[in-house]
Amino acid sequence: MAKRALLTGVTGQDGAYLSEFLLSKGYEVFGVIRRSSHRGVEDHRLRWLGIAAKVRLLDGDLGDLSSLLRITQDVQPDEIYNLAAQSFVASSWRQPILTANITAVGVANMLEAARIAAPGARFYQASSSEMYGLIQQPMQNEKTPFYPRSPYAVAKLYGHWITVNYRESFGLHASSGILFNHESPLRGIEFVTRKVSDGVARIKLGKAKELRLGNIDAKRDWGHAKDYVRAMWMMLQQEKPDNYVVATGRTTTVRDMCRIAFTHAGLEMDEHVVIDPAFYRPTDVDVLLGDASKARATLGWAPKIGLEEMICEMVDADLKRVRTEPAI
Ligand code: NDP
Ligand code: GDP
Repeated sequence: MAKRALLTGVTGQDGAYLSEFLLSKGYEVFGVIRRSSHRGVEDHRLRWLGIAAKVRLLDGDLGDLSSLLRITQDVQPDEIYNLAAQSFVASSWRQPILTANITAVGVANMLEAARIAAPGARFYQASSSEMYGLIQQPMQNEKTPFYPRSPYAVAKLYGHWITVNYRESFGLHASSGILFNHESPLRGIEFVTRKVSDGVARIKLGKAKELRLGNIDAKRDWGHAKDYVRAMWMMLQQEKPDNYVVATGRTTTVRDMCRIAFTHAGLEMDEHVVIDPAFYRPTDVDVLLGDASKARATLGWAPKIGLEEMICEMVDADLKRVRTEPAI
């Protein structure tokens, strides 16, 4: 019989790529989708990958335990991937309570649904390198102390520890993936890589003249979402649940990432980038650099797609998208 996977956050970047990956492995994929008045557009990423018809979408919300319980009871999944979150750091200062309710308490809701309705299911929690925040070691691994620097990171820290606690308290097969930033043409437009690839495409096609950014000295360890969803699945195939860092081991400034994008489009970055204090954060994470040696050794995981290849793929996808978008 085909294995069943239940994904929250199925409409997001990782939900789309993970669905594609699991379908290719023969899984039946079920996704939680929240009700919206914009019915018909929420699954745009699944449609972009050509898999919308193959993913079964079920109405629910991470803030509503009753919906998660009902869905988990009905689906009886073998694997649960909890990817849903208010995932944008900058928004977490503007909506700190919502971020806590969904990104932190929402994890407890999903764990409770699993514990009560499908205790044998394997559970993946989408934890984040943002938890390292003000870094305590030059390279961060599973043993590095955390120092969150945003309401988002504080909420993710709760999600991480409640996952560890449910593993230890109830014997759930619950793993926490501490993933460093990962991007793709399906990344949300508000995140810096996608904002840059979209901005470059607009400038190249004459639809914009400048690109306004904040702290371009910040450094991130950027990988490709396609590589990172594979690591999520690998964690759940282990006999024992655990915590794993997933990262490339290379860190790059926003400035240098941006230069790759402009150069790929044949443009001069310095003629178009404008620094705008509106995009600075109350506290920022200056640098992240992950040490994924445990994932390499235990899971046999390694990234396949490098930064240059990924940024060029994103610029090319946005050039195509901007070229064909309606004029209004
Ligand atoms: P996205 O922002 O693309 O997707 C977030 C998903 O969560 C969307 O499907 C969204 O639904 C859903 N969601 C938000 N609120 C709720 C809610 N109340 N109930 C149900 N669903 C909800 O994130 P990514 O795919 O990039 O990331 C996946 C996960 O991994 C997130 O938890 C993120 O915080 C975490 N993470 C991501 C990293 C990255 O670099 N991408 C790095 C480390 C961790 P809708 O479409 O309706 O908005
Ligand atoms: P994050 O690491 O989850 O916060 O991912 P983002 O892509 O949102 O931000 C990565 C880094 O880019 C952070 O240090 C931001 O401060 C920095 N940055 C600089 N300018 C911008 C911008 O205009 N938008 C965003 N989203 N980030 C920016």
